[in-house]
Amino acid sequence: MKLYNSLTKQKEEFKPIKKGEVGLYTCGPTVYNFAHIGNLRTYIFEDILKRTLILAGYKVNHIMNVTDVGHLVSDADTGEDKMELGAKREGKSAWDIAKQYEKKFFEDFKALNCLMPNKTPKATDHIEDMISLIKILEKKGFVYKTSDGLYFDTSKYKNYHALMGKKNFEGLKEGARVEVNKEKKQSMDFALWKFSANGEKRQMEWESPWGVGFPGWHLECSAMAEKYLGKTIDIHCGGIDHVSVHHTNEMAQSECANNTPLANFWIHGEFLVIPSGKMSKSSGTFLTLDELIKKGYTPFDYRYLCLTAHYRTQLEFTFDSLDFARTSLKSLKQKIAGLDEGGESKGDISKYKKAFEDACFNDLNTSKALSLVWDILKDKEISSYNKLEFIKFADTVFGLNLLTKDVKKEEEISSEIKELLEKRAQARKDKDFKTSDILRDELKQKGILVKDTSSGQTWEKI
Ligand code: AMP
Ligand code: ZN
Repeated sequence: MKLYNSLTKQKEEFKPIKKGEVGLYTCGPTVYNFAHIGNLRTYIFEDILKRTLILAGYKVNHIMNVTDVGHLVSDADTGEDKMELGAKREGKSAWDIAKQYEKKFFEDFKALNCLMPNKTPKATDHIEDMISLIKILEKKGFVYKTSDGLYFDTSKYKNYHALMGKKNFEGLKEGARVEVNKEKKQSMDFALWKFSANGEKRQMEWESPWGVGFPGWHLECSAMAEKYLGKTIDIHCGGIDHVSVHHTNEMAQSECANNTPLANFWIHGEFLVIPSGKMSKSSGTFLTLDELIKKGYTPFDYRYLCLTAHYRTQLEFTFDSLDFARTSLKSLKQKIAGLDEGGESKGDISKYKKAFEDACFNDLNTSKALSLVWDILKDKEISSYNKLEFIKFADTVFGLNLLTKDVKKEEEISSEIKELLEKRAQARKDKDFKTSDILRDELKQKGILVKDTSSGQTWEKI
């Protein structure tokens, strides 16, 4: 399997540390607001990666953290903690905000059919682990103290530019001339521990050997990745914005503390953008999954849309593109629902399976993989039964529930339609084809398309 590694900036053959097993760490949500559909694109890409690894036969140990403290408004470690910001916005405690949005996040995550991680540890449950990590870094001389916290001295880590690349690193240095915190030695230095301001009692704060305060955002992932997956992990993922700040800083801390690479593969998903630019929580320009559902789309329509684009290309979100995804998915599911489940096995699907694996194992080429499902549906040499076998196989990666008949539609039809459908099914059972044809036409006029399959009558809205 080949995957693009942000560290080496090329596609590489994936090899795990331990044969047959993969340690996967994906950076999780900051639970101070709803996840927007941009965030959700990243979780969908990570889910496709995980499902592809499972298809390749790996046992995946997946850890995804929940950031419930320490993520400040500015990447330069200034401004308010996002949790406290959420608390003020809604007049609740920071702890309640975290609980509320964590719950909502996992509802969205499951609605999108993303496989649950093995563990979803929270930053606030790992303060001791983070303090231990700072102690190691302090002993090794990477830490200095300012009036507002403890900072990591990036000049002492020669590989600091590794993820973002030398050019971006120079650009970052150039762009950071105006530094808010004058006590920092370098503009790139980042907080490991921030002190609670003098005389101020924060909602989330802890004792530490250096003073009362809270951990820096990057520290939690270094501490939890090590705790649950070991000092070097196979794959570390996140959105593309993490390359130059969050992941660069995680890497600096972990590698200086442990003298080993934090991750062998770093994989990043590109952004979902809107025609007016970036979708972001802080600017308020964002759409949630609930908003899509309210407009009549399903989470699977959005998942399908994400699969049509490669994870390393930007995806511009418009309602036209979502409409297109919805129509395509609906038509695909209709075609699949019309396949005869009980028929004969005819035609070789191994070439389709091979092409599917080639696409997925070539850096997750989901659009190519999707096109194979459309191709096999058109293939006259392959029987329905075998087509279904291939689709079942492919859907272990897509996670689109292609073989599931939409149960929700049952609730959406009137009792009159329900009665007509029952009458027609009975007429067919009685071999009264004249009546069943009349009822089929009547249903069609009422917007219901009826089909007969070997497993009985199916229907859909026209
Ligand atoms: P956050 O909850 O802000 O910590 O972000 C959660 C995940 O969403 C991270 O992996 C980010 O890199 C990713 N992310 C943020 N904005 C976008 C976007 N517009 N498109 C795709 N991923 C994003
Ligand atoms: Zn992280």
